[in-house]
Amino acid sequence: MKIIADLHMHSKYSRATSKNMTIENIDKYAKIKGLNLIGTSDFTHPIWFKTLKQNLNEYDSGIYQYKNKNIRFMLTGEISLMYKQDEKGRRVHFLIFAPNFEIAEQITDWLKTKGRVDYDGRPIFGFTSIEFVEAIMNISKDIMLIPAHIMTPYFGILGQKGGFNSLEECFGDQVKHIHAVETGISADPEMLWRISSLDKFTPISNSDSHSYYTWRIGREANVFELKTLTYKNIINAIKTRKGFKYTIETPPEYGRYHWDGHRVCNVFFSPAQTKKLKGICPVCKKPLTIGVEYRIEELADRKIGFKPKNAIPFKRMLPLAEILSGIYGTGISTNKVQIETNKLVKEFGSELNVLLNVSENQLKLLVNEKIANIIIKNRNGELSVQPGYDGIYGKLLLNDKIKTKI
Ligand SMILES: [Zn+2]
Ligand SMILES: [Zn+2]
Repeated sequence: MKIIADLHMHSKYSRATSKNMTIENIDKYAKIKGLNLIGTSDFTHPIWFKTLKQNLNEYDSGIYQYKNKNIRFMLTGEISLMYKQDEKGRRVHFLIFAPNFEIAEQITDWLKTKGRVDYDGRPIFGFTSIEFVEAIMNISKDIMLIPAHIMTPYFGILGQKGGFNSLEECFGDQVKHIHAVETGISADPEMLWRISSLDKFTPISNSDSHSYYTWRIGREANVFELKTLTYKNIINAIKTRKGFKYTIETPPEYGRYHWDGHRVCNVFFSPAQTKKLKGICPVCKKPLTIGVEYRIEELADRKIGFKPKNAIPFKRMLPLAEILSGIYGTGISTNKVQIETNKLVKEFGSELNVLLNVSENQLKLLVNEKIANIIIKNRNGELSVQPGYDGIYGKLLLNDKIKTKI
């Protein structure tokens, strides 16, 4: 069976997350998007955990369901670590996948010996990554820990402020328990392929969505082909890459931390420009927020275009609403965009089916030629995007060239 999985988003109990992130809505909008496996997110939060336990029924080992028969859930969470190692500040976000409610509870119980878990769906702790991996592996080897959005500046393990240049540096010999890394929206597997030390970690892709909008959930996802959907089979597919067909990625320029810059100073730079400026903002004279592309250039030991032998393929696409918003020149949450999206989803079953599978001729029966054409271009990864920076999303470019500012 084909599984399209988004294993990282946030519930309404996480900071800066929409109040609409309830089980009902996640279940409903995952179906519209075309996903069939969702990470519950935030299982460490006591109220959310209770809600999940009361509302989800077991479908198969470690896999649960709510109302939609085709949408399945897996227990996932995220924590944030801030600590010092060798006198240097480190900041790392981790995804946690748990095989069942009992073990999820044991993880939370251990976290509670270290701090509070009830104020945020993504709680913060001061222990080291090494201590974390050791403690969690003592609970169960079936738990999977994955460094989240590894290249992003603030909390990516290899990001500007993450503090590490390799996973080995972060984990020491505990690196043997780490099998995967999350690419994050601002990077894609092709960028990570340039760093040879990452070859042994499987790149996975998730939305990290803070709202149910279909241009957020499932914007990045993992596609598996498995005999049966169980927690163990998902974990094995991630570890061995067998049955892991491809990942869905947004163009990395779309991410909020692709280029460098300052949002408040309204300046953005490519890595080459940032180097010329020695990393200093020409407006406020403070250090720039360094994006993902810059960090890749710093860490890469291979040329652009290198592909490792065991690479998992990927498809690069923007969400449907982003394309329509670009074509109409209107905001993404306007009626015009919504009406067109609904029309397509109603006819073809889900947004991902429209983006991945429906032929140009079939599309033309429902939408004008320009829209049909751009959906196909999107599928082929042929659209260009003005790179995002310092928290600002990238923008689809239909006619303009990429702008640079100095
Ligand atoms: Zn995070
Ligand atoms: Zn500035």
